[in-house]
Amino acid sequence: PPALELEGLAFAYPDGTPALAGIDLSLLPGERLAVLGPNGAGKTTLALGACGALDEVRGVVRVGGEVPGRRELRRRVGIVFQDPDDQLFMPTVEADVAFGPAKQGLRGEELRARVDEALDAVRATDLAARPPHSLSAGERRRVAIAGVLACRPDVLVLDEPTAALDPAGRRELLDVLVSLRLALLLITHDLPYALELCPRAVVLDRGQLVADGATREVLADD
Ligand code: ADP
Ligand code: ADP
Repeated sequence: PPALELEGLAFAYPDGTPALAGIDLSLLPGERLAVLGPNGAGKTTLALGACGALDEVRGVVRVGGEVPGRRELRRRVGIVFQDPDDQLFMPTVEADVAFGPAKQGLRGEELRARVDEALDAVRATDLAARPPHSLSAGERRRVAIAGVLACRPDVLVLDEPTAALDPAGRRELLDVLVSLRLALLLITHDLPYALELCPRAVVLDRGQLVADGATREVLADD
């Protein structure tokens, strides 16, 4: 089954602003999909809906062919926000990455192994003892990703992950994201990055999908 399926996902903010007008979208295991579109198109709302962070959303979100409860959905579709500082709040990198799996009930050796695995996946093993605020923008981004990976999601959602990264940081993040071999939803305005990272792209406009195809072709038509 697909890693993620959105069926008729529709949402309006409490003030009545329509944000998603019935989105149908499917993501295969290991597939990397860029979500493009102008400001206000609904990209962030789509990301929040996919990971179970919207109240009163209409439609169905399936993960691996199942419709999880909301708590399970939040674990299985992990999101890394635009500002990694929003999710780094513990005194050390290690403690930060342990926070999610500890909340799931992991303890001791099992928890340690989970944290090591996540730090290794983002090439941040050597940062384990550092306070998050002492890290570079690229390091903070990768550690925030490790915190999500530590909960073993089926899908990783990234909101503008290249914001504030220098060329070396962009390259390292790209290598890490490719090596994860995880289904990935990349929300971005960074078209060169979308082209390099994601074979497929969709374009959102006013809450609707207006294009879906090979990233190169979607960008050429845009
Ligand atoms: P994008 O991420 O593509 O810029 P958003 O998903 O943030 O788009 O926004 C989609 C629509 O919802 C826009 O019209 C935006 O102004 C509106 N919107 C976003 N957040 C809120 C909110 N908290 N309350 C009301 N309207 C919102
Ligand atoms: P939990 O079992 O974790 O409490 P539920 O599945 O019972 O979660 O859902 C709690 C609330 O979240 C309900 O109001 C439900 O309508 C809403 N909800 C359920 N699934 C989703 C979803 N995929 N996205 C957004 N809200 C949802």
